Amino acid sequence: MKSKTTDHRPQAGSYLSLLGVFFACAASALAAETRALVIAHRGASGYLPEHTQAAKTLAYGLGADFLEQDIVLTKDDVPVVLHDIYLDTVTDVAKRFPDRKRADGRFYVLDLTLAELKQLRVAERFNAKSGKAVFVKRYPSETSAAEFHVSTLEEELQLIQGLNRSLGRNVGIYPEIKQPKWHREQGHDISRVVLPILARYGYTTKQDACFLQCFELTEVKRIRGELGWKGRLVMLLNGRGQDADGVDHDTLCTAEGLKELAAIVDGIGPAIGRIVTWSSAGEKKLTDLVKWAHASGLAVHPYTIRVDDLPKNCPSADALHVALFRDAGSDGVFTDFTDVTLAWLRK
Ligand code: CA
Repeated sequence: MKSKTTDHRPQAGSYLSLLGVFFACAASALAAETRALVIAHRGASGYLPEHTQAAKTLAYGLGADFLEQDIVLTKDDVPVVLHDIYLDTVTDVAKRFPDRKRADGRFYVLDLTLAELKQLRVAERFNAKSGKAVFVKRYPSETSAAEFHVSTLEEELQLIQGLNRSLGRNVGIYPEIKQPKWHREQGHDISRVVLPILARYGYTTKQDACFLQCFELTEVKRIRGELGWKGRLVMLLNGRGQDADGVDHDTLCTAEGLKELAAIVDGIGPAIGRIVTWSSAGEKKLTDLVKWAHASGLAVHPYTIRVDDLPKNCPSADALHVALFRDAGSDGVFTDFTDVTLAWLRK
């Protein structure tokens, strides 16, 4: 029989190890709050066809903090999760609905109802003319019989919230309103359809796990103003030039432009080339974009890390992560490879 003292020892030990666990958890929670955010770009798109439920589930399992949704509307005004207003580079639409081709030779999401879209099979991104995969080492859709389908925004939100419940996490969403000006010209108001759905799923304030993003400044202002969005908002900044409304993104990327943006948005999503470039000699050149953005109180989430398609002259995936995080101080990043970026950030 054990003495009272020996009875106490393991208890004291358990208490101490519990304390250890508590501090370890507190430390890791702190690390999770302070390290940069990993945003799964179209899901785990480095490994599975982009924007499919499989790609989202894998990104979730790999530990992403946020999962990205690109949103376009169907003919019957249902928001679906697809990167392009076109269908012919990620689905078999040309085979299933050949008569829906427009005069420009493209197939548009907006020309099919949700019921029709659900008949399509989604594949790894390919060139519509040649039929060849864009990223040759990615998921081999041409030889795989596994089926992937188009998701509605609501299906995806339910998937993420379902996983949040079953796994006890709070992984966020990062929806993008795609080509709002084009949608309006076609007679559809995409933001007005999407915002009430986000609200219905609990995304309304800056405390909610959601960043809403868009490339068009006119729409970003409208989302914040007329449409009354109170959640976090991110202005995407293209690599160079004007957006669909003729707004010059070079101007927005100046210290003054960023100060003006800070009155409307919480963060910016710039192309990586606006933060860092490499010369043909391999020399790294950093801009002041992140410094200026931070001076205006803006978070910076550049796009996109692709380890199989690095920026021009960038020597390695490691060098890209070093530049974006250690050198420039980005607050998060869109990545096709959640696991690679997360492993780098945890080093
Ligand atoms: Ca996007």
